[in-house]
Amino acid sequence: MIETSDVEYFPTAIVGAGCAGLTLAYELINSKDFPCILLDPQKFRPEHAFSFWDDGHPNLTLARSLARKTWSKWEIKTFEETIQKYSSRFVYSTVSSSNYETYLFKKIAENRGTILNARVTDLYNEDTYTRLETSSGDVFLANRVFDSRPPSPTKKTIFQHFLGWEIKTNKSVFDDTLVTLMDFRVPQEDGIHFIYVLPYSETSALVESTVYSDTVFNPKWYENQITEYLTNVIQCKSWDVVIKEKGAIPLNYKKDLKPLGTPIGLNAAAMRASTGYAFSQIIHQAINVSGQLKQGQDLIQIKPGATSFENWMDNVFLDVLSSSPKLAPYVFSTLAKTLSGDDFVKFMIGDCPLSIKLRIIFALPKSDFILGALRNAFK
Ligand SMILES: Cc1cc2nc3c(=O)[nH]c(=O)nc-3n(C[C@H](O)[C@H](O)[C@H](O)COP(=O)(O)OP(=O)(O)OC[C@H]3O[C@@H](n4cnc5c(N)ncnc54)[C@H](O)[C@@H]3O)c2cc1C
Repeated sequence: MIETSDVEYFPTAIVGAGCAGLTLAYELINSKDFPCILLDPQKFRPEHAFSFWDDGHPNLTLARSLARKTWSKWEIKTFEETIQKYSSRFVYSTVSSSNYETYLFKKIAENRGTILNARVTDLYNEDTYTRLETSSGDVFLANRVFDSRPPSPTKKTIFQHFLGWEIKTNKSVFDDTLVTLMDFRVPQEDGIHFIYVLPYSETSALVESTVYSDTVFNPKWYENQITEYLTNVIQCKSWDVVIKEKGAIPLNYKKDLKPLGTPIGLNAAAMRASTGYAFSQIIHQAINVSGQLKQGQDLIQIKPGATSFENWMDNVFLDVLSSSPKLAPYVFSTLAKTLSGDDFVKFMIGDCPLSIKLRIIFALPKSDFILGALRNAFK
């Protein structure tokens, strides 16, 4: 760190010390762009699971080493059928958000990075440096600034909103070799609704009620759904809630805020709209950005979480499902049935050839998807 008169200078400043900010700062340790300063007003980051599909990519080495558990089998359930899938090449993996973020936090601090509890309010590009101001009146100079503030939802957005309980039971009720990605055997009146079960052992699991709709509900609503599911479907009589997690992720957002640097993370479209997954895309994005910086590239290209064709497919998909939410169980089960376990994962992580995308398009209800595509074309 260099003192420039009485204002502190850093090669890199990152607005927001969430998953994207921390991952990027960690990747820059030992480069000329370090030490970084990360500024974030949030004092406490609630614990939650970061689940992702692990395709063996070297970028996921750290996340893999911190994984709490991995699974090779998963299922989608509807009232009509259960579709189970298996992959020999990919695993579904989960990392505790606090383990991941604490690890990065520690490494950044050990290497003389600065993580400051502060809200960035404005940014000015000056001749040599960028000047950042915080709500407490502090000023910092940086050579380069990244902005990971999450974007704001559009008025008509669909949210993926959820509340989950990590529970412990005193009897064995879960098959800990099998993830239930979506169980649609729950009320569908208030939006596309499913239960997600991540079984850590036969007696512990994360059980989450997830909805796609334009309104976020009161926590009691999801808790009632989880209680009903545990009692009637899992046939569990009693449990202890160990951790609660909740979130509401807008699937359509706008860029209405003045940019405070180069966008990264959710702010740079890292999330896959049809799935709500962003964790592995954020890691790939951060490693890609740090690679460009290390090569001395001046104009940084930010890779979004999905290609434009995948975004188009996701938008049509969401349009169809929000106009006809009752189709959701059929659409997701058809998607799983159409693809092999490996191809299903390839589609989920975005690394999927055109042939798989076309198979998906042809397997889905034609008239609804043509109408959805047309509506999207005129938006
Ligand atoms: C409960 C929950 C569970 C999730 N689970 C998964 C999962 O299992 N798998 C998956 O792939 N994805 C998951 N996601 C989605 C995604 O991976 C996470 O939201 C991820 O944390 C996004 O990282 P980010 O750094 O882009 O944004 P954030 O983690 O939201 O970080 C942005 C930071 O910017 C800060 N900030 C805002 N304004 C300012 C300002 N003016 N100045 C300074 N800082 C500011 C905020 O305080 C925040 O800490 C989940 C999301 C939630 C909420």
